[in-house]
Amino acid sequence: MNLQEYINAVKTLNLYSYHYYVLDDPLTTDEIYDGLYHDVVVFEHENKNEILSNSPTQRVGDVISEGFTKASHLSRMWSLEDIFDADGLLKWLKKTYKLNKNISFYCEPKFDGASLNLIYENGKLAQGITRGDGVAGELITQNVKTIRSIPLSIEHKERIEIRGEVVIFKDEFDKINEKRLQAGEAVFANPRNAAAGSLRQLDSSVTAARNLVFLPYGVGKNSLTHKLLSEKMEYIYSLGFRKPPSSSTCQEFDSIEAIYEVMKRDRDSYSMMLDGMVIKVNEIAAQIDMGYTVKVPRFAVAYKFPAVEKITTVKEIVLQVGRTGAVTPVAIVEPTDIDGVIVERATLHNFDEIDRKDIRLHDKVIILRSGDVIPKIIKVLTHERNGSEIKYERPTLCPVCSSELLDEGVLLKCQNLTCDARVVNSIYYFASKPCLNIDGLGDKIVESLYNSGLVRSVIDLFDLTLDKLLALEGFKEKKSQNLLNSLQNAKGCDYWRFINSLGIEHIGEVASKTLSENFGSRFTDATKEEIIACDGIGEEMAESLLEFVRVNRETILKLQEILRPLEPTKRAEAKENAFKGKTVVLTGTMSESRPVVKEKLELLGAKVVGSVSKKTDFVIYGEDAGSKYDKAMSLDVICLTELEMQKMISESEK
Ligand code: NAD
Repeated sequence: MNLQEYINAVKTLNLYSYHYYVLDDPLTTDEIYDGLYHDVVVFEHENKNEILSNSPTQRVGDVISEGFTKASHLSRMWSLEDIFDADGLLKWLKKTYKLNKNISFYCEPKFDGASLNLIYENGKLAQGITRGDGVAGELITQNVKTIRSIPLSIEHKERIEIRGEVVIFKDEFDKINEKRLQAGEAVFANPRNAAAGSLRQLDSSVTAARNLVFLPYGVGKNSLTHKLLSEKMEYIYSLGFRKPPSSSTCQEFDSIEAIYEVMKRDRDSYSMMLDGMVIKVNEIAAQIDMGYTVKVPRFAVAYKFPAVEKITTVKEIVLQVGRTGAVTPVAIVEPTDIDGVIVERATLHNFDEIDRKDIRLHDKVIILRSGDVIPKIIKVLTHERNGSEIKYERPTLCPVCSSELLDEGVLLKCQNLTCDARVVNSIYYFASKPCLNIDGLGDKIVESLYNSGLVRSVIDLFDLTLDKLLALEGFKEKKSQNLLNSLQNAKGCDYWRFINSLGIEHIGEVASKTLSENFGSRFTDATKEEIIACDGIGEEMAESLLEFVRVNRETILKLQEILRPLEPTKRAEAKENAFKGKTVVLTGTMSESRPVVKEKLELLGAKVVGSVSKKTDFVIYGEDAGSKYDKAMSLDVICLTELEMQKMISESEK
């Protein structure tokens, strides 16, 4: 890098920072920002006299937006030095041991959100201030007061600054973006930008609606006398702050590496985005001794995780047709390595998303791969367009059967009930876990059975014989016999499974159970009034069911004849108890299997559902409870251990 390149790099980094910190709408990925930042650091190291005062290395990056009152922190807020690999860790440890040999370390997740400083005076929350330039930030006390995990008053009466990260949980982030898409608003690129943007709203009611969560990571000005950071943090949590998951103390390189590897491996299981692990010297006296550079503490470092966001190019948009006929677009992108996985496809959800995000062929985009979910396009880099991009035209014909598509705005639908893709997917659904749970009928097998002509509908499955299967390519004796056995075992299934397997639009597992309990095999003759009278079944569901029965009565009866599903035994009305009529969610590993616990609760008259919402009455959690537990805490839903649940059951029985 020469001087001119250095000057340009500083300019570019400052432009990136402005879009990132002020507009909450980044122009590039963190990886690219960090790469350029690193080049600037190297240049400055070799050319100390040329360092520009506005270089991002010389200051904490946030810029204070107009529109907010500026407020000073009582003591400075800092950024963190980054390291990216074991070699970086070794170098940092060497540097740190040089300053002080007798130290241990406190490791905790690095939460990817927005920093916040809380000032408490006489035990009352007096001010909430963003990090800003480290010396002063934006005064956002009113917004901060809407965050439920921030206590408005604490037992500690002396003046104290409590610092932490404000985050948005991943599922909440998806919901916010979904709503913004529907309202025609620009989506947030990632949870960090969403958290920062939500925190810095001029209207506090917007912040309040965003379900932000505050995770403390340290203190600023304080009069605490703890000798260890770990003790100090325990004290802070005891004041009513949320304890972040997975903090631990350790002694040396090997254990830091081990903690890092586990955290990196499990990063997707956390409810919030993590972009690394922070390592801090645990002894407060040593921390004070080591002090700070112009920008970062010498006693702490951020050990970053591999990037999950990459820039790539959209090559093509292909279409998939599901069992309901819904056509889903999928982007085929230039193959890109994200954390060891080559990504070639990104989900686009629906056509509205393509329109609203204005995704064009040949566009440069940022894709995110987190967890097992299919990677998604989080941002189009419109400023990188050169005119070669092609606007995507909505299809009018089904890509599989060429029949005309029904355009419902957000969704395009193939209306042809005999469309190959629809039939294959509905057979696959029929056999899937929440339906008839038939082993050995994965999507590829269904496709080959369908293409062979042997199975053109779910009824044909039950005409399969060993001879017929053995005549097909890839079907050996054992595999064929297993499949036939599984099909046989599906007979005599629970009645709700039978209803669910029909794939009636808007009727899922919970509704199938309700219909089964209320009507059993009489569900085909239930009237609209009777159906709507069932708990949890609305008008749209009732109409969908009636229409389905009208068109498919013959098939339903034929299938019923083959499968002979068990008529439900009417459950006796449960006696009064703490769970009767309540909505319950189970999470984590329990002493008994979850279906057993579920059955117990259902016998008590509880409705056991899969996801947590404001309507959930109780979350029962076992070991290693994950995001559902976190979500329940953020929504103030009552969380009970299995033992507490048992106690409540036996107390109500008394
Ligand atoms: P940072 O966010 O990487 O690290 C410092 C911050 O981490 C602290 O201020 C604190 O808020 C937070 N943090 C989270 N958990 C913590 C914990 N347990 N202990 C202590 N602090 C914790 O640093 P930064 O200075 O805010 O920003 C630099 C980062 O922002 C870079 O990694 C860069 O990639 C990114 N950035 C990206 C763009 C872009 O255009 N994509 C632009 C500017 C900056």
